[in-house]
Amino acid sequence: MDRNSRSALNATAKDLAFENSIDFARGLDERDPLASFRDNFLFPKEKNGKPCLYLCGNSLGLQPKRAREYVLAELDDWADLGVEGHWMARHPWLPYHEFLTEPMARIVGAKPAEVVVMNTLTVNLHLMMVTFYRPAQKRHKIIIEGGAFPSDQYAVDSQVQLHNFAARESVIELKPRDGEKTLRTEDIVATIEREGNSVALVLLGDVNYLTGQAFDLAKIAEAAHAVGANFGVNLAHGAGNLPLALHDCGVDFAVWCGYKYLNGMAGTLAGCFIHEKHVTNTELPRLCGWWGHNKEKRFEMGRNFDPIPTAEGWQLSNPPILPLAVLRASLELFDAATMPALREKSVLLTGYLEFLLDQLPDYVSITTPRNASERGCQLSLTVKGDPKSLVKTLADRNVICDFREPNIIRVAPTPLYNRFVDVFEFAQILSEHAG
Ligand SMILES: *Cc1c(COP(=O)(O)O)cnc(C)c1O
Repeated sequence: MDRNSRSALNATAKDLAFENSIDFARGLDERDPLASFRDNFLFPKEKNGKPCLYLCGNSLGLQPKRAREYVLAELDDWADLGVEGHWMARHPWLPYHEFLTEPMARIVGAKPAEVVVMNTLTVNLHLMMVTFYRPAQKRHKIIIEGGAFPSDQYAVDSQVQLHNFAARESVIELKPRDGEKTLRTEDIVATIEREGNSVALVLLGDVNYLTGQAFDLAKIAEAAHAVGANFGVNLAHGAGNLPLALHDCGVDFAVWCGYKYLNGMAGTLAGCFIHEKHVTNTELPRLCGWWGHNKEKRFEMGRNFDPIPTAEGWQLSNPPILPLAVLRASLELFDAATMPALREKSVLLTGYLEFLLDQLPDYVSITTPRNASERGCQLSLTVKGDPKSLVKTLADRNVICDFREPNIIRVAPTPLYNRFVDVFEFAQILSEHAG
């Protein structure tokens, strides 16, 4: 990484005021030390003669160019080796998931023993709740965000019901204050304190998928632990977006998918974090499978489960290699770029988008917190008038971003492959549409 150009970008952020001009946006791109990472990705095709303006990394990341090569290598090794690919493939399949552990641990700020890539997100959430949601007569509640991602709501409700509690009594939903769109940390903490020793689990999405709000994980972990509850985090919108420090924050567990900011393709394997203070406790109840069993003895096919004393001890099955290969191609790019550098660019890129949208105060309003430390790259917008007509304009201009009923547009400039000119063009299209 070129240190001089990195600090040049830094200086821009601090010393120069943003300007609403294409030349200014181009200047930022020229000074962007991460600009060349864009060349590692494949973009959707042109439409109406317009190149794709992709702002949807919060929903599905783009394909790293090397993914194809990595997938084909595994197909070739399977063709050449059959079952022996488990040991003899260039990247042997038995430990294949281990190739992803350290890069993934760096992305979420964890120790390698705390992280495993396995299953999919909702499956991991259930597995973690089996271990970390152990309700008792008095302590049975789960605190979640009101309007959490539907899969999380269904998972939470069904876990509560599985233990013979009623969701409407045991699931506590956090709501913003009247007239506000996002949650205040002090209100989250106050709810935890109020519910006290009836709380078994606090579960938040960091970043919130709809509002783009990022939470103060350390403070919330402290509050949860003070009442004797566990703290779990769904990082579907946080992993690869924000620099995280899961270990230091004392989060008990976290789960995240590999296909949003992590560019692993739809349905690829997901991440799972279990704090060091829990992983070595082989007595913790869990659902078990042979891939969580002591690796030295796995093929002795013994009767008794002997869990690996790391996050791997929660694995069930031998994982599918092809989606792991795709994810490996992407994680290499994160390692090359590094989260701190990505975040530095991201703050500037989203800050520039915010500056440009603020020029259209009669048309757009931003729901996401204005303070960069309370958000990742995504801005959630509402627009005046019928949002469907804007959605059509965006589609005609080959802009891919995300619309959620009734009127929320989510825009996520991702620092790995988006440019400053991309956010300039997006704001320009909005401005023309607003008329
Ligand atoms: C994307 C997302 C999911 C999706 O779950 P899958 O199991 O990967 O289908 C769940 N929760 C949140 C918060 C998400 O953002």
